[in-house]
Formats: sequence, structure tokens, C-alpha cells
Amino acid sequence: MDTSQLSDLIKEKIKKYRNKIQTARIGTVIEVGDGIARIYGLDEAMASELLLFPNNIYGMVLNLEQDLVGAALFGQSHSIKEGDEVRLTGETIKVPVGEELIGRVVDGLGHPLDGKGKIETKKTRPIEMPAPGVVARQPVKEPLQTGIKAIDSMIPIGRGQRELIIGDRQTGKTAICIDAILNQKNTGVICIYVAIGQKQSTVAQLVETLKRYDALSYTIVVVASASKPAPLQYIAPYSGCAMGEEFRDNGKHALIIYDDLSKHAKCYRQLSLLLRRPPGREAYPGDIFYIHARLLERACKYSEQKGGGSLTALPIIETQAGDISAYIPTNLISITDGQIYLQTDLFNKGVKPAINVGLSVSRVGGNAQIKAMKQVAGRLRLELAQYREKEAFAQFGTELDKTTIQQIERGCRMIELLEQPLYQPLAVNEQVAILFAGASGFLDDIPLEDIKRFEEEFLSFLRKQKRDLLKRIEDKKEIDDLLKEELTKTIKEFKEKFIISRHDQSEEEEEKDKS
Ligand code: ATP
Ligand code: MG
Repeated sequence: MDTSQLSDLIKEKIKKYRNKIQTARIGTVIEVGDGIARIYGLDEAMASELLLFPNNIYGMVLNLEQDLVGAALFGQSHSIKEGDEVRLTGETIKVPVGEELIGRVVDGLGHPLDGKGKIETKKTRPIEMPAPGVVARQPVKEPLQTGIKAIDSMIPIGRGQRELIIGDRQTGKTAICIDAILNQKNTGVICIYVAIGQKQSTVAQLVETLKRYDALSYTIVVVASASKPAPLQYIAPYSGCAMGEEFRDNGKHALIIYDDLSKHAKCYRQLSLLLRRPPGREAYPGDIFYIHARLLERACKYSEQKGGGSLTALPIIETQAGDISAYIPTNLISITDGQIYLQTDLFNKGVKPAINVGLSVSRVGGNAQIKAMKQVAGRLRLELAQYREKEAFAQFGTELDKTTIQQIERGCRMIELLEQPLYQPLAVNEQVAILFAGASGFLDDIPLEDIKRFEEEFLSFLRKQKRDLLKRIEDKKEIDDLLKEELTKTIKEFKEKFIISRHDQSEEEEEKDKS
């Protein structure tokens, strides 16, 4: 064999090798429908790799089988036919990240949905990233105030925490999260709201509310509404998380809300069943725990060496008939650092927010609570526990001793005091002042129907005339003897001015007599 023959042979070999590479990177659709495609010939596909179908439709590799690749489509599947060519892109899914997204409404791939034009971000980030390790983290230590009295006092949340919000439908789950977003104004915390599988009209309303309270200026809304293909709904929380991580990694603070993960789990179940993965409990696939665990593990408080940034997560779960022991709810309860449990019967009774304090817990947030709040909250919890214990007796109309009656009366007032209207988050010093008044028994002689008005008027009195006192609670962060004395004095001063709306019992009787 002379040299020219040899070089021809080598050239031919190289040519064949190229062909081989080509074939491994281009496949053929052999089955398509329901947002799923099966593809033959993509020997080199990676798990979660992005695929390019004709008409610029993208897909994601989910199943790697012996001869086939199962993929989910991010566009409408009816424009794709059997025999179409599919290309590997060599990349996993990335989304744009950065400050430029703030104030915008985007879809799960980071494309704008608000008609405000292109988003010029400088960076992108893969939607799936490993969660930070143990060494990179530190315990939760700064509060993330939601502005809701019942939560900030008894179920406090800290920056970097994961707190589940769980309850039946229409129990005020979203409302709590919106309040939490509104309360982040001027705190430097950037909020990300991820809407999964909701009606477009509901999301539009929410965006309007954020705008109305000037909260969109520090919020990113990621929407994968119910009409979108399941794969887009499936990736939305991961995309939102990647956007939040960018702030976390740069030493900033972000709050992310996943509304809600029940629908997310259902999307993933749909995809898995269509891909013919074996169904497990409640027909969910075997890795349903992992998809939520790896998402929520990415929320954390970084150590000082890492810049001290944080990502706080508030996942929402919808239960059926209050069943918190169903599969997905128990999974999430075990992944998160606590849960806020909302109850339908409380909601219907008018207790709003309808938080069941007995079943709600925050396992790490106590660390982050300011001392003044801890001081009033301790008393509050005790009062409520005593009330719950005695409440049942009161219903039987049994004769009760004086202390029991007093405990019941105070409990009723505390419950009334913990109610809070929509979109009116309170600053922590205001919460401390009013809860102090309640827990110290200053409201015992105020009729139940006047409690709300008392609170309102007391707070506006504080805001107008006792600014310095509020400032001192905020600065000191602790109720010492001096502050206690002053708070007591202020409350007494206000009580003298407060007019009780109900007439005296005796007056009523007199009126009756007259008639
Ligand atoms: P869904 O299951 O449909 O997502 P949800 O649990 O998120 O419902 P929301 O939409 O937050 O519930 O609230 C349900 C209704 O209750 C809304 O109309 C809201 O205005 C009202 N609501 C919630 N919280 C309060 C509150 N604190 N005070 C008064 N109304 C409230
Ligand atoms: Mg909701």
C-alpha cells in the first residue's frame, strides 16, 4: 500500500466517523401526541437535554431508553409529524436571569408575557442546579416579616427558610403570599411569584393587585397557566428558582412563592404516565418526592464567606377535604421547615387568615424572630392554648369558675385580634404593640365587637402621636422594663379616649322597660 492509498483510506475513515457523529445527533420522530414525542436515533442524548424540533419547537429529554428517547414538547404537538427530524442542542434548559427581569411577567422559559418588549438580560442560568452544600450554608437568623400578625408572632419565618402553606381550595393561601410580598416593600427582598396551572384571569388579577400596591417594582411573576402544555408548567418552578438563585448568589435576598405544587405534581404525573413510566402510589411516578425535594433544597441562607445571600421559599399545597396525610402533602411537609395550615371551617366562621395555630409550626424561624416579638408571642401562645382547652366546656354551658371565664374571654379577644384584612400587612413594631396590649389583658374589658375598631384606632394613634415609641421598639428589639412601662402608659392613655360602641346593659333594660 503506497502513501496515497493510505491517505485515501484515512480520509474515508474520517468521513464515516463524521457521519456517525451526525446520526447520533439527529433523530427521527416515531410517535408524537399529548405533548410527548418518542424519537429514534438520538444515541448521544443527555438526560434533560434540550431538543430542537421543526418549526422551532423545543423539547426536553425525559426518558433514555434502549433504542428510543422520550421527550416532552414545549410547543403545540400537532405541528410535528412522524418522521420529522429532531436535533440535539447539547445544552440543558437555561433561562435569562438578573435585575432586568424585575417588574416583568414572563413564562417558564423567561419570555415576556406582559407586552412590555424584549427583556435584555446579560446572563442566563440552567434551570436545574445542584443545591448548595452544608458547608456553604448557615442557620436561618434574619426574620422575613410577612406582616401578618398570626404568622410573625407564632409561626415566624426566617430568610432562607422553606415554609409550606397548606389548605383546601379557597382558604386564603394565595392571599397570605401576596401579603408577604407587599410587606417586602423597602426591605431589599426581591420577590418571585410562580403561578403553575392557574387560570389566566386569576393571575391577571394578582398582577393588578401587585401593581396597585406598587409591589410589582420588586417582583418577578413567572406564569405557566393551565392552558399551557404540561412540560412548560413542569419547568416553571425550576425557572423561577434559577432567577431567585441569581440574587441569592450575589449576596441579595429573594423570596419565591410556588403557587401551587399540587398542580405541579399533577403535571409531572401526566408527563410520566404518557411516557409510560411505572405508576406508584396515587399513580405518581417513583421520583415525585425527588422533584420537589431538589427544588426546595435550593432555598437557603448562605454563609458569610459565600456572601450571606438568601432564598426563602413558600410552596403552596392544596389539600382535598383537609387531608394533610395524602401523598403529596406529606411529602412536602417532610421536605419543608414547617407548615402554615389553613382550615376551611375557620375561614367560613370568618377567622381570616384561617390559620390553625395548633397544626401550624415553624421549626427554624424562632431563631430569626426579634426578642420583643418572642416576648409577646410566648404569652400569646399560652393564652390560645388555654382557650382551646376550655373552649369546649364553654359550649356546654356548664357553670364555670372565674379564672376559666377570664381565660375564655381573653382567648376570644386574642383570636379576634389575630384576624387581619387583606393586603394590610403590619410592621413588626406595630404588631408588638397591639399584641402586647392583648396578651397583657388590656383588652379584657373591651367588648368583642369593638376589638377590631380598637386595634385600628390604637394603631393610627401610635402612628400619629407615638412615633418615638414605635421607633424605640424597632431599635431596641426588646421589651425591657422601661419600654414595658411606657407601653402600658400609652395603652392606658388611649383607652381613656376610646369610646365603646355598645350601650350599657342597664340602659338596654331601661329601654325595654319603657317600651
Ligand atoms: P385557591 O385554592 O382558589 O387558589 P386560595 O386558597 O389561594 O384559593 P385566596 O384566593 O387567597 O385562596 O382567597 C380566597 C378568597 O378569600 C379571596 O376572595 C380572598 O379575597 C378572600 N380572603 C383571603 N384572605 C382574606 C382575609 N384575610 N380577609 C378577607 N378576605 C380574605
Ligand atoms: Mg390560590
